[in-house]
Amino acid sequence: MNAALLTVAYIVSSTLFILSLRGLSSQETARRGNLYGIIGMATAVVATTLCADLDAYASLIGALVIGAGIGAVMAARVAMTAMPELVALLHSFVGAAAVIVGFASYLGPDDGHVGSRTVLLIEILVDVFIGAITFTGSVIAFLKLRGSVSGKPLLLPARHALNLAMVIASIVFGVMFVQAEGHTGLTPLLVMTAIAGVLGVHLVVAIGGADMPVVVSMLNSYSGWTASAAGFMLSNDLLIVVGALVGSSGAILSYIMCRAMNRSIWNVIFGGFGADPPPGAAKAAAAQPVGDVKEVSLDQTAEALRAAKEVIFVPGYGMAVARAQHAVQQITEILRKQGTNVRFAIHPVAGRLPGHMNVLLAEAAVPYDIVLEMDEINDDFPRTDVVMVVGANDIVNPGAQTDASSPIYGMPVLEVWKSKQVVILKRSRGAGYAGVDNPLFYEPNAAMLLGDAKKTMDSLLGKLRGE
Ligand code: NDP
Repeated sequence: MNAALLTVAYIVSSTLFILSLRGLSSQETARRGNLYGIIGMATAVVATTLCADLDAYASLIGALVIGAGIGAVMAARVAMTAMPELVALLHSFVGAAAVIVGFASYLGPDDGHVGSRTVLLIEILVDVFIGAITFTGSVIAFLKLRGSVSGKPLLLPARHALNLAMVIASIVFGVMFVQAEGHTGLTPLLVMTAIAGVLGVHLVVAIGGADMPVVVSMLNSYSGWTASAAGFMLSNDLLIVVGALVGSSGAILSYIMCRAMNRSIWNVIFGGFGADPPPGAAKAAAAQPVGDVKEVSLDQTAEALRAAKEVIFVPGYGMAVARAQHAVQQITEILRKQGTNVRFAIHPVAGRLPGHMNVLLAEAAVPYDIVLEMDEINDDFPRTDVVMVVGANDIVNPGAQTDASSPIYGMPVLEVWKSKQVVILKRSRGAGYAGVDNPLFYEPNAAMLLGDAKKTMDSLLGKLRGE
């Protein structure tokens, strides 16, 4: 394949990636968006492979088949709830690949690169630095999300000074690397890589569990920038474009999520700021919930739903774990048939990944037009008869508004307690992801329907059908 055809293929791929991002922005077009992405990537891989001056097609195809096989099995097996872990793991591969390619570019023959050697060395430096941070940071994010490492932030004394010292040390070794003759810069490059790796670990261990979604999205952005740096290093235009797309879309998503959780983006990037108590927290006494936790029976819940005119379902992580979405959809159908206005309130960080609830509800064929974002529905709770909280906890915690000592203080939440009646489906009175008590359980208009969300929803469905 000649260079002109390769350029055309790269332009086609870039366009398909942009269309893919656009498609993924709404549920109706997400499947098409995914398809564009697949075609774009296939075009890029085939065109690059055909154009490369290769004599080792057998090993290349072997690696592609093995990699694609492992990827397909992992994607088919992964539970929706474990998706963020998988994404974090995949980001770590991008980081590791960037580091390896950086070293290979340095040690390999200096051919085909556009620009001076100093520029190449700076590109290698940037690529390896961001790649090493992405690699170790993503591994820690993976272990935290998996529960192998505690979700609690590890806050070393003078951690910000430590981060700064590591950045300065990386710059010093980076300068030594760029100034070194021949391949003698290998040692400073190795030292800088090790420091960047430690920095990646330190940045992510300092971040609390509740901020992990933003961290995963930030690491996504880092993996894009590192790919872009690799594109400059390898003089590959498509890698530059794709890296920039991933980097900027990840950064925009992180910003949107930060706003949804009321966290500053700088807290996430520099790790640990978000773990500091908010201003005034030291003086504010933790608001201990008062009162009794009431329970409600299946019959009472069915009766309340039959009598209700306005019902809102608030799905959370527990619905995903229990796989209760199909029963929820069937109940929705019955209620809508009896003339009840049923809607779904989706918190931006409900579940364990952005859009988690939307995917589950779409899978269960819940109509898109009754699935509303938090901002669209939060004002409607006071005129709602029954709110069904299905396996959600942190996202409906009123303490986020009232308890200045709470780690989730300031995070916007769904104000379910303002409705006439709240039924909370979960297995115990236990805390949610952020590990904090939920004063909602003690509200006079709230009651718990204890048990596995799927079993409870199935039984409720039976009651509503009159079985
Ligand atoms: P939470 O994790 O706060 O609460 C989920 C609740 O579901 C738990 O309290 C649990 O209670 C209950 N539950 C678990 N299994 C079942 C089951 N089988 N049946 C019924 N209930 C069950 O989830 P939310 O969705 O409310 O909030 C999301 C949290 O996750 C936020 O803190 C967010 O920051 C964080 N997060 C979000 C990510 C994202 O991108 N969306 C990624 C990573 C973290 P019990 O054990 O008593 O049953």
